[in-house]
Amino acid sequence: MALLKGRVALVTGSTSGIGLALARRLADAGAHLVLNGLASAAEAEALCDHFAQQHGDRPEFAPCDLRDYRQIEQMIAGLNRRHGALDILVNNAGIQHVSPIAEFSPQIWQDMLAVNLSASFHTIRTALPAMRERGWGRIINMASISGLRGRAGKAGYNATKHGLIGLTKSVALETAPTAITCNAICPGWVHTPLVQKQIDALATREGLDNDAATQRLIGLRQPSGRFVTVEQIAELAVFFCSPAAAEVRGVAWAMDGGTTAQ
Ligand code: NAD
Repeated sequence: MALLKGRVALVTGSTSGIGLALARRLADAGAHLVLNGLASAAEAEALCDHFAQQHGDRPEFAPCDLRDYRQIEQMIAGLNRRHGALDILVNNAGIQHVSPIAEFSPQIWQDMLAVNLSASFHTIRTALPAMRERGWGRIINMASISGLRGRAGKAGYNATKHGLIGLTKSVALETAPTAITCNAICPGWVHTPLVQKQIDALATREGLDNDAATQRLIGLRQPSGRFVTVEQIAELAVFFCSPAAAEVRGVAWAMDGGTTAQ
């Protein structure tokens, strides 16, 4: 029997990049998926159609802008009504912005706090009671190596990802006596739209072509010289959902090509 057969999984920010790969892998492991992200109704419909063709089970789409906690409350309440509880909650959605702090837009800071940190507080806050009643759960927060170390120009990203790891530890301790676990994944560079924007900015700033800018970006801090892949991260998430990981609690698990080993 598939590992996650009968489990319901919400993956926030699953319209692209890491979240989409993770949702696909959870579906392949048997879970029923709830997708989320910034997408029009038509885009969401097309995504669900395509997903269903590839994975059999048709996912749901939860159209929630994670900057607004009232929308999060409505989304989780609706999912709890339909499914009793969420079994797997992956807080993956995130945004990036690179700027010296003195020029950092206050609006982007607020949005980054809301999406990268507060949204996870609100999804966990509202999903946990039903999860506790069901007696099993897996909460996975997509942090970053930027939650473990600092980098100039990433005040917002560093602050929110460090905060997300703190939130992970606290929830892991609150749930430690139960069959619910909460862990964080800390990827290094992964080639997704979020990182391509940083490659494009570097290429423009330094007058480089895409390949040269990509190599320069990876060389900034990833000893492997390679991107981590979305599939590798998805496998780690499935491991967190497996019985073998039942006592893995509150970790911030780096998958970073050696960056944090330095
Ligand atoms: P991405 O840009 O491909 O995907 C981001 C997702 O978040 C999209 O689905 C987008 O629609 C969604 N999103 C953004 N704002 C939202 C909002 N207000 N409401 C709802 N959804 C929203 O990015 P990615 O690289 O796949 O990143 C996914 C996660 O992984 C993020 O938390 C990111 O910080 C983290 N991460 C990425 C890397 C990397 O190198 N790509 C490294 C470390 C951590």
